[in-house]
Amino acid sequence: MLKSTLTVALLASISIASAQTDFKPEDTEFYEPIPPVVQTAQHAAPSDALVLFDGTNLNQWVSEKEGNAQPEWTISDGVLTVKPGTGGIRTKEEFEDFQLHIEWKSPEVIKGEGQGRGNSGVFLQGKYELQVLDNDDNKTYVNGQAGSIYKQNPPLVEVRKPEDGWHRYDVLYTAPRFNSDGHLIKRGQVTVLHNGVVVQYNTELQGTTEYIGLPKMVAHGPGPISLQDHGDLVSFRNIWIRKL
Ligand code: MG
Repeated sequence: MLKSTLTVALLASISIASAQTDFKPEDTEFYEPIPPVVQTAQHAAPSDALVLFDGTNLNQWVSEKEGNAQPEWTISDGVLTVKPGTGGIRTKEEFEDFQLHIEWKSPEVIKGEGQGRGNSGVFLQGKYELQVLDNDDNKTYVNGQAGSIYKQNPPLVEVRKPEDGWHRYDVLYTAPRFNSDGHLIKRGQVTVLHNGVVVQYNTELQGTTEYIGLPKMVAHGPGPISLQDHGDLVSFRNIWIRKL
């Protein structure tokens, strides 16, 4: 049995090898569809991105606390800062699979410890938290430090604060898929680069982010990007997204 299987495999590989020799280089080259052109510049959103925050206004956002009210977070010198107690904010638009870029900075005045120091978060589809935290000399549970998928998966490495204090997250996100009965067909997946370093690599989402208890598998469609008000003066800038 084994011998006959090997013989079939050998014959198949010989026929593939001989077929390969019949190819010309141009047989495996194609010219359409042509990829759209995207203009790029350093520190600027790609030309085909939806800019969520360019330093001037929160037109793309609403408050999570007050329904569709205008967020009360502070904009100063092109930087958006949490206004503690006013609640999180979320995008008006909802997304499925995307590439997200967001920059964040811990509060100038270091206070608190553990989860109480410079805590915020980027909620993917409003449900899955990519943690924002002032990690430097600040011990906490590893699946709650910056770069973690909160309470699910710690970052592969701990990326320290750059000299100017501004962190960058680049997120590649594939939404979970559910059938019409609400059953999970495919888990959501997320890859995160923190200051250019991979900290989440095709991480499978276990379910919604829960502070207490296990993640919950909740069927959903497209969702917003939300930013957390955890009571700390965390700042953001240069936020853009590209649907994939
Ligand atoms: Mg948080």
